[in-house]
Amino acid sequence: MQQTVRVRFAPSPTGELHIGGVRTALFNWLFARNNNGQFILRVDDTDKQRSSEIYLQSILNSFRWLNLDWDEGPEVGGSYGPYRQSERLNFYLEEVERLLEQGKAYTCFCTAEELEADREKCRSLGQPPRYSGRCRNLTPDDISAKKKKGFSYVIRAITPESGETVVDDLIRGKVFFENKVFDDPIIIKSDGLPTYNFASVVDDHKMKITHVIRAEEHLSNTPRQQIIALQLGYELPSYAHVPMILAPDHSKLSKRHGATSVQEYRDLGILPEALLNYLALLGWSPGHDREIMSMAEMIELFSLERVSKNPAVYDMQKLIWLNGHYLRNASTVRITEMAIPFLLKESIISEEQVSQEKEKIEAVVGLVKEKVKTLSEIAEASVYFFHDDFVYDQAGVEKHFKKDGAAQMLIQIEEALQKASAFSAEELEKTFADLSKKTQIPLNKINPATRLAVTGRLMGPDLFPLLALLGREKVLARIKKARALFCLD
Ligand code: GLU
Repeated sequence: MQQTVRVRFAPSPTGELHIGGVRTALFNWLFARNNNGQFILRVDDTDKQRSSEIYLQSILNSFRWLNLDWDEGPEVGGSYGPYRQSERLNFYLEEVERLLEQGKAYTCFCTAEELEADREKCRSLGQPPRYSGRCRNLTPDDISAKKKKGFSYVIRAITPESGETVVDDLIRGKVFFENKVFDDPIIIKSDGLPTYNFASVVDDHKMKITHVIRAEEHLSNTPRQQIIALQLGYELPSYAHVPMILAPDHSKLSKRHGATSVQEYRDLGILPEALLNYLALLGWSPGHDREIMSMAEMIELFSLERVSKNPAVYDMQKLIWLNGHYLRNASTVRITEMAIPFLLKESIISEEQVSQEKEKIEAVVGLVKEKVKTLSEIAEASVYFFHDDFVYDQAGVEKHFKKDGAAQMLIQIEEALQKASAFSAEELEKTFADLSKKTQIPLNKINPATRLAVTGRLMGPDLFPLLALLGREKVLARIKKARALFCLD
């Protein structure tokens, strides 16, 4: 019988969830779902100083917002818990005891000075810095004497001094490492807590992880983890290291390139499905230049074989483009709910309007969402539906209003709108066509002037539904106002 696929994403709660992390989590999640397997969330919180509950909650919130569910982990539990490393110390200590008993690990009392002297010696011989193994052969008496004197110590695992360790990576193929470059790794630090490499190996084993899919930056940890796993007598999981994400200038992606955390993308008005679709394409491609994919399609198409070895280059414009696509295609009701916080934040609407004018807000969002790419642009594009005191595009004013005949044209528009039998998009389109015919003023003069008068802008959603939504009274008042403000005659 084939083993059930079990993968894990193991964030350290020392900061917000970043897009690199989400991409790794997403590949794990897609792989699990594609294989009818399980996706486990494990909290790597052994670094007490830097870990915080606030960050953990923020990471979990980001997962919820992205709609990436976890089968086991914090809050949902599972058969292999606890899922916080800080609550698993007994497991690590049990395994360390076993290694010590079997002579596969040892207590090391070396001081910082001694370790520096080791490194210096290696350097002078032109070798990579390596721990000398000074404490490998301490006797039980030496050890208890030193402990009695209160000397600080760590536990190290024994690493073979020759031979090689091969990481059989599902994306990169076989990667060879010479064992002589590795120190005997510290597995328990002087504060009694396990190191990342040790805790990770123990947990991956105890949680029955079948595939470790993680960032390329961990590739150098993998041989060390394999050596520790071997000492512990564990079977190795399969490994896959996903490529780095680079900034457009091919440097390491960082804060200075713009938004990096999920929360920041959320604040910019990016939709979760757009972010996931975009991140899926960073290093993976289903082939045939396919780009826009639903979650269901991504689950179906995902495979590690199609993940690239090469770094992926981050492109914000493409994310925004995808976001526009998802925005146009999402239901107005849903987008309205998501846009309301943006409208409130910019004081475009009030809480009271949210409860009393939902229909109008929905109508506005439904109209403007066709032409914008983010939720914050929806807010920006909605202002004149709720406020009369907008500013006018200056170049537009010069071009359309401060001209001979402009006042006359606006008066004719007002009269036509006054008489329109109904203030619906279809009726208004007809009204404008008739007006143009009668006055011989082309629509490409009438339309932009009207738009500018009622919105202050030269661009925006389709003009006739926009006028219909604003309503006759407002439209007429605004045209009159623009005429009085700007027209010469
Ligand atoms: N806590 C580690 C990190 O966030 C996990 C790495 C791993 O997946 O093993 O980088």
